[in-house]
Amino acid sequence: MAQRTPHSALRTPHLKRLVPLLLDWFTHNARDLPWRRTRDPYAIWVSEIMLQQTQVKTVIPYWNRWMRELPTIEAAADASAGKIHKLWEGLGYYTRVRNLQKAAKQIVKCGVRSAECGNVKFPDTFEEVLALPGIGRYTAGAICSIAFNQPTPLLDGNVIRVLTRIFGIAENPKEKETNMRLWKLAEELVSHAANSRTRTRTKEEDGCCSHLNQSLMELGALVCTPRNPQCRNCRVKKLCVAFRENRVEALPNLGKRETATARRFAAFIVVQDGRFLVRQRPAGVVNAHLWEFPNVEITGGKSDPMSAAKIVFGVAPSRIEPLSTVKHSITRYRITLEAFRVSFGGTSSTSLHSKRLKSGTRVTRPSENIGAWKSPAQMRRLAFTAAHKRLASFAAKRILFDR
Ligand code: SF4
Repeated sequence: MAQRTPHSALRTPHLKRLVPLLLDWFTHNARDLPWRRTRDPYAIWVSEIMLQQTQVKTVIPYWNRWMRELPTIEAAADASAGKIHKLWEGLGYYTRVRNLQKAAKQIVKCGVRSAECGNVKFPDTFEEVLALPGIGRYTAGAICSIAFNQPTPLLDGNVIRVLTRIFGIAENPKEKETNMRLWKLAEELVSHAANSRTRTRTKEEDGCCSHLNQSLMELGALVCTPRNPQCRNCRVKKLCVAFRENRVEALPNLGKRETATARRFAAFIVVQDGRFLVRQRPAGVVNAHLWEFPNVEITGGKSDPMSAAKIVFGVAPSRIEPLSTVKHSITRYRITLEAFRVSFGGTSSTSLHSKRLKSGTRVTRPSENIGAWKSPAQMRRLAFTAAHKRLASFAAKRILFDR
């Protein structure tokens, strides 16, 4: 069992020295990220939602495109479902974008306008921000500290790693008590930064809450990394308990990793007159509103592609041939998507359309909708799940253009 660490005793003497070191390090080492060039809470909110579960380098082009296409809260509220999903295509976790739009509509409905620019005003208290759909304690803390320089704490994976190491916290951060302790530490740090302003404030000190929170995240992203942290070059190493006690690799103590579950899907590519049969996922399921090729999950090892196709289309294909396999991971699932090109001989597109997906004992069916015929150009305008987007470009190239 992990030993309880007396970090509360270590905590207080650290803050006075730790906060200025973190602020100074951030001032000289922060990456120049596009959302760091603004204090617009809407722009910061969009970046924070995109950055959940996604790396900075992936987010940059998505954020730039989103802000170009939907530069205001009103624009985000008014955009069509197709547009927001297309702008988010490839980022995954699409509930995030739907909640973002729901929150934008809510803000617009409240209709408080900024005196300076006349645009709808983003709420500026922690409680109001936290009440918006899709915004939890972390995101509300990030928006209020970064956009409004309020002393609101935040705790994400990077900050947890930095704090458990600096303060030598051996307990699992997922445990309620330890998690509360980490939130308290994060709060003390940002409050200390807010209170340590001098009477003649510099421009940097005006953003001290924003910079303190971002310094913890940035240190975790650039220096105090999960593997091979650069302790020798770390600005706070003299205050770091894990470094001093040679416990860096052991922290944070995240317990046993959940084992990944393998899942297998069969997708079917049907082509007619240069167009593909694709369908939109219904509301209320994973990846709702996104487009995909007709597919089923194979939940038993014995199901063959032919019977899976029959279950999807309600009629056995006259021909079936393997086309491609796409492997990817979503949360704790390792997914193998096997794609087959199928044709139906005498079955016309009309009769194929009249079929309904039938349930099978070994197959999970995601939709009752058999789909629509779309050309590659039309498909490029639709938002596809990442795996099916790869399949779409492969199928178009292989079947239509390599003939
Ligand atoms: Fe992280 Fe090492 Fe710096 Fe401690 S000294 S904060 S473990 S990088």
